[in-house]
Amino acid sequence: MTVVQKYGGSSVATTEKIARIAERVAKRAEKDKVVVVVSAMGDTTDELISMAKSLTKIPDERELDKLLATGEQVSSALMAMALHKLGVKAVSLTGGQAGVITESKAGKARIRKVESKRLKEELAKGNVVIVAGFQGITENSGWAEITTLGRGGSDTTAVALAAALNADACEIYTDVEGVYTADPRVEPAARKMKTISYEEMLELAGQGARVMHSRAVELGQIYGVDILVAHSLKDAPGTLITREDHEMNSQNAEMEIRNPVRGIAHDTDVTRITIVGVPDKPGVAAKLFKALSDAGISVDVIVQNVSVAGKTDLSFTVADEDLEKTKKIIAPIDKDIEAADVITDSVLAKVSVVGSGMKTSPGYASTMFAALAAEGINIYSITTSEIRITCLVERDKIKAAVRALHKAFELEKA
Ligand code: ADP
Ligand code: ASP
Ligand code: MG
Repeated sequence: MTVVQKYGGSSVATTEKIARIAERVAKRAEKDKVVVVVSAMGDTTDELISMAKSLTKIPDERELDKLLATGEQVSSALMAMALHKLGVKAVSLTGGQAGVITESKAGKARIRKVESKRLKEELAKGNVVIVAGFQGITENSGWAEITTLGRGGSDTTAVALAAALNADACEIYTDVEGVYTADPRVEPAARKMKTISYEEMLELAGQGARVMHSRAVELGQIYGVDILVAHSLKDAPGTLITREDHEMNSQNAEMEIRNPVRGIAHDTDVTRITIVGVPDKPGVAAKLFKALSDAGISVDVIVQNVSVAGKTDLSFTVADEDLEKTKKIIAPIDKDIEAADVITDSVLAKVSVVGSGMKTSPGYASTMFAALAAEGINIYSITTSEIRITCLVERDKIKAAVRALHKAFELEKA
């Protein structure tokens, strides 16, 4: 059997921790072919970003990718050494060496394909292959460039490799025991789920449940890779992310009483931008959002007010890390459309209720709003998908909001 395992930053934060994980990998390698994807040690990526930002407010994207990719190269080489010490044959590879080919978008590149020849050869030689997560190389006709996959992207490396190798298992090892009904660090009553569908996990991840990278879930869904999320050191059963029908089969009796709401996600990493006095005519929003999307900036919670005298206010959220870039991109457009003002708010956060059962039954929005109101939490904007409702609330009330919603939807009950 071939297995791809991924170990996150906190699991490989020190050389002692790397040595402990190596022991687990060594044991697994006695019976299986093992590919290990590692994240950078502890807070390395954050530290590298702050070093770059101490030199310049908006670091050059190519150089930033090259810098950040070093984090995972360090941990992968150390992991190989720890395995050698245990007498296990192992080789570490950068993302590029492992054949991870991406589009040429700095900072948030998507994996185009995995050329798995080298990986297969190394496995055939009896090596445990350690791959630096979160990175790839471009496949230009010119020089190959090092790219990174966006924060949390090592999960995506693991799922992509599992798909390319047609692996029998893809295991994401982290510092919690699985996917919970809310972030267990915020809501102690959160319950670990046995299984969750790709669709629901995608919404949770997209709205801030950072236990899984969204793109990893998306790839899992496309290529039919079942993803197990579990604790890196405990032998506890984790959570299986799988197809909805598989999920149902494995739940049997549980199915009938299943709560239509599966989980609560929250995200404090958002800034709201309001453009005041936008002319209410066709093409303005298109121009603005095209420029942002061309720059790889994801925009969420878009709200446009009713227009007064041909002018309207347009607001949307971006990730905090994209704020400076966003301001730079919208400045000339604001000037062009003669917007009256641009206001940025970094005091808000998003809280979302997710569940595929919400598709068919009404009433979830009112329960959500009532639960927030009962805690005195004001709602600034609202967006929905078929299986999600998201509210923008004050950032300092986010924990209270998560707990209130967890309770209102009775998520502590199985
Ligand atoms: P890693 O470094 O292993 O990739 P991350 O920090 O990226 O780990 O993700 C794990 C963290 O995700 C947990 O420590 C937890 O605080 C957070 N988290 C947020 N939402 C959830 C959730 N619904 N279930 C489990 N963990 C969650
Ligand atoms: N090291 C990268 C980050 O901190 C990627 C990852 O950990 O998955 O975002
Ligand atoms: Mg992560």
